[in-house]
Amino acid sequence: MRIPVIAGNWKLFKTIHESVALVQELAPLVANSTGVEIVVAPVFTALSRVADAVKGSEIKLAAQDCYWEEEGAFTGEVAPKLLKDAGCSHVIIGHSERRQYFGETDITVNRKVKAAIAAGLSAIVCVGESLMERESEQTFSVIEAQIQGSLAGLTEADFAHVVIAYEPVWAIGTGKTASDAQAQEVHVFIRSLIGRLFSQSVADALRILYGGSVKPDNVKGLMSQPDIDGALVGGASLKAESFAAIAAFNG
Ligand code: PEP
Repeated sequence: MRIPVIAGNWKLFKTIHESVALVQELAPLVANSTGVEIVVAPVFTALSRVADAVKGSEIKLAAQDCYWEEEGAFTGEVAPKLLKDAGCSHVIIGHSERRQYFGETDITVNRKVKAAIAAGLSAIVCVGESLMERESEQTFSVIEAQIQGSLAGLTEADFAHVVIAYEPVWAIGTGKTASDAQAQEVHVFIRSLIGRLFSQSVADALRILYGGSVKPDNVKGLMSQPDIDGALVGGASLKAESFAAIAAFNG
């Protein structure tokens, strides 16, 4: 009932030319993937060219961030409606790198999520604990605060346009993946929290992705967990072959 999502976060990698080449290589490799939503998130400058390149394929396009205002004197920012204009259907919001390096908070994430949904985008909302927080047994309280803050004020209808990505910070780009059981435990926690804060039907329908060093050789185990509905992939999404192998987890 929950269609899995495999999303690639290309971070600050690849020129326009390289981004287009990557999706052109990826498209035939994922052409026969059924029952899975495939999303790629290039840098802002490559979005509209990649949008042209994925037309007619199954690949959807995401931005890696957005601002919450529609327009105005906000030098350097990009509004959700401009992302839509560039061909995006999705936007990643609150990635831990934005929280760590660019002052993103649950309050700004919440504004961005609402603005993205209002513009007709689906928001991939990232949450996750640091190593210190996990080691001091604060994982669940940290995740709870992030979910409550990031999704405050959303309606049940809004959740048709929300995907959550659980990304333990200690697993991002480190080669250390959460074990299948560790990831499943947090996904269950998130789903039951959403059930309590919103409704059981919202919780049941919500896609919760895992992110953190997902690779072709660990994706099957993660995806076999009942509450893991996909993956947000960094490093392994930068090569068509490894990203396609991850997208083929059910093959
Ligand atoms: C990410 O960027 O969201 C991510 C999970 O990166 P990696 O797969 O490289 O750990």
